[in-house]
Amino acid sequence: MPFACADARFPPGLFNMSSLSTSAVVHRSLKVDFPRIIGSKGNYVILEDGRRIFDASGGAAVACIGHGDTRVHDAIAAQLKKISYCSTIFYTTDVCEKLCRELVDSTHGVMKRAYIVNSGSEAMEAAMKLARQYYLEKVPPEPSRMRFIAREHSYHGTTLGSLSMGGHVTRRAKFEPMLLDCVSRVSRCFPFRDKQGSETDLQYVTRLADELDREFQRIGADTVCAFVAEPIVGAALGCVPFVPGYLKAMKAVCDKHGALFILDEVMCGMGRSGTYHAWEQDDAVPDIQTLGKCLGGGYQPIAGVLASKKVIEVFEKGTGVFVHGHTYQGHPIACAAALEVQRIIREENLVQNVSNMGGLLSARLQDLVASHPNVGNVRGSGLFWGVEFVMDKTTNKPFPSSLGVAFEIAELGLTNPYSMAVYPSSGTADGVNGDHIIISPPYNILATDVETIATTIQRLIIDYFASKK
Ligand code: PLP
Repeated sequence: MPFACADARFPPGLFNMSSLSTSAVVHRSLKVDFPRIIGSKGNYVILEDGRRIFDASGGAAVACIGHGDTRVHDAIAAQLKKISYCSTIFYTTDVCEKLCRELVDSTHGVMKRAYIVNSGSEAMEAAMKLARQYYLEKVPPEPSRMRFIAREHSYHGTTLGSLSMGGHVTRRAKFEPMLLDCVSRVSRCFPFRDKQGSETDLQYVTRLADELDREFQRIGADTVCAFVAEPIVGAALGCVPFVPGYLKAMKAVCDKHGALFILDEVMCGMGRSGTYHAWEQDDAVPDIQTLGKCLGGGYQPIAGVLASKKVIEVFEKGTGVFVHGHTYQGHPIACAAALEVQRIIREENLVQNVSNMGGLLSARLQDLVASHPNVGNVRGSGLFWGVEFVMDKTTNKPFPSSLGVAFEIAELGLTNPYSMAVYPSSGTADGVNGDHIIISPPYNILATDVETIATTIQRLIIDYFASKK
């Protein structure tokens, strides 16, 4: 029986429903008894009842080197013995310096400094304030710049600033009156649903760039700090990559109007897309970039902001002070975990493995899943793939989000014989896109794991839709 799912953040039917849960935790739903994980190792998480679940989504696209890597445990323990906390009001640490150096160096000299925070939402808040302050520090200053142009059906975080930036309809809905009004939005880049007739990629990109140009003119180019986008849209649309040339074209419009180009790589960055930074695939260098999930791989809460030479040099010549700060920014334990995760990714050449295994996963999903009558589209990049479900393959009509199709599929996936976790989302609102699941396994998977993922998801989808007939 389908459960009612009005809000994509509150899965309707995952696990047991109980009206009077005894838990003291504010869970995502207070009416659900969530199963407890009692262990995790490699590609698997172990549940209290003994189920061993293949984590094909790395949680929310986080566990990039898998679970329980003792090298990261050791790095955390060693750091804890040295310095457990550092107030960044007074000090810095070797570990934070090293991590930021490594992040900056990964951009081939484009970025000059990094700012380490605790979550992707915080990174987006910091990016917004950094952009605003850039125009105040600039000579001559441009204080009228305080607006942002973002995109429909994007997701940039859950705090009020980052939520204001995002266009995730259901996650915004209840808080709409409280959100900042300094953000306007242009169309998403989503060829599956939005490309018109025989439009070529170039024509589609040109249409979107023209729309952005018109938005700058409509709101006044001299009021805009930045255009903000996820290169590959994650939670809101389900792994929708940019069309080749899109990022470059949007950056050119920003340059034309003297605005910054901000890329949110919280979900698609740090190798997930098959290159270390997704923007490398379009050679479109951002002025500010955010990072998150695969920075620390889930071993510690950590995210970051990279600021380009252009931005940092304005601050260096100006006050030198970014008026922003968190008690736990640059936390040494989180930095130690991220430094070790990034060392493993680099030394084990895992981004190359993402690219190789991603090619295989793409081919196997196209072979085994794409032809199902309720699969409208399979898209992605690297080890970041989305499967979108439709009621009717000829019209690509989505299911009503109230049915919670993706959540039900994810729920079924956790049962025998599938025992596989995928990340579900029930569209951003009826009609704008369909339910989808995200597949984002660890970077170190093998070809045999790819086969397990593709065949299990094929079986899961066939069985789920057969059970609804
Ligand atoms: N930006 C993007 C693209 C995301 O996918 C997310 C989270 O899913 C965020 C920002 C917010 O990150 P966090 O949940 O760590 O605050």
